[in-house]
Amino acid sequence: MTAAVTSIEPRQHRAVADELRDRVVLVTGAGDGIGRAVAMALARHGANVILTGRTTRKLSQTYDDILAAGGPQPTIAPLNLEKALANDYDAIAEGIDRQYGRLDGLLHNAAILGQRSPIEHYDVPTWFRVMHVNVTAAFALTQVCIPLLKRSPDASVLFTSSSVGRKGRATWGAYAVSKFGIEGLVQVFAEETRTTPIRVNAINPGFTRTNLRLQAYPAEDRSGLANPEDIVAAYLYLLGPASKGISGQSFDAQ
Ligand code: NDP
Repeated sequence: MTAAVTSIEPRQHRAVADELRDRVVLVTGAGDGIGRAVAMALARHGANVILTGRTTRKLSQTYDDILAAGGPQPTIAPLNLEKALANDYDAIAEGIDRQYGRLDGLLHNAAILGQRSPIEHYDVPTWFRVMHVNVTAAFALTQVCIPLLKRSPDASVLFTSSSVGRKGRATWGAYAVSKFGIEGLVQVFAEETRTTPIRVNAINPGFTRTNLRLQAYPAEDRSGLANPEDIVAAYLYLLGPASKGISGQSFDAQ
């Protein structure tokens, strides 16, 4: 079984300048919030980043900002996880194969909140949408990327969890259940890859000042929340070479 938060301390990790040099890392939801901040940080430490997400304009902004900061040229691969069909996933994998020939990191970051509502009143189509974007799409993207991950000497797959994916709380509905699903997916896939160079972990970013947080808590005082840029250390640790050999665990970013 996956151990919750361990004594390893990814939050304290201080990545050196070129720590992720030559690693090829795909980030979903790279146009905004935490995904954007992690993509920028990965590139700052030398990674070739593949930026995926549903809003091309936002991905282009991340792309421009990476180049302006002197990072390696990223790649944009638009992918709407709500609408994508098998051929869209295949096209992403084929594009990565053509351009890089392998994948060293895969960050499943994109997610939607759905609605805050008790189960009794939860909208059924919204339930389907949340489960699809947050869990099923992450599974589908992982599956098409496995051949690419197998070609890396040290591939890290990192899924994004949440505190409500470890302990359910009222009104978090499909979002909480989807994050429990992610924790389960990590456990299953980590065991299946135990004897391979692929490692699989989960990260809970913690309360962070993003659109998703605003949607969940529209009236809160946001001044005490971490900025996405403040929480990237654990992501760099888990997606980079420093965490080689660590698999099947669930970490906190703050
Ligand atoms: P944001 O809403 O800021 O960013 C979510 C990202 O996911 C956006 O880039 C968004 O794209 C993308 N996305 C949403 N739907 C789709 C879709 N259908 N296809 C492709 N991309 C999509 O949220 P956060 O940065 O806060 O969330 C990042 C992760 O962290 C999520 O997994 C979330 O559950 C988790 N998390 C966040 C916490 C917080 O306090 N912020 C706490 C715990 C967990 P677009 O910009 O186009 O909308």
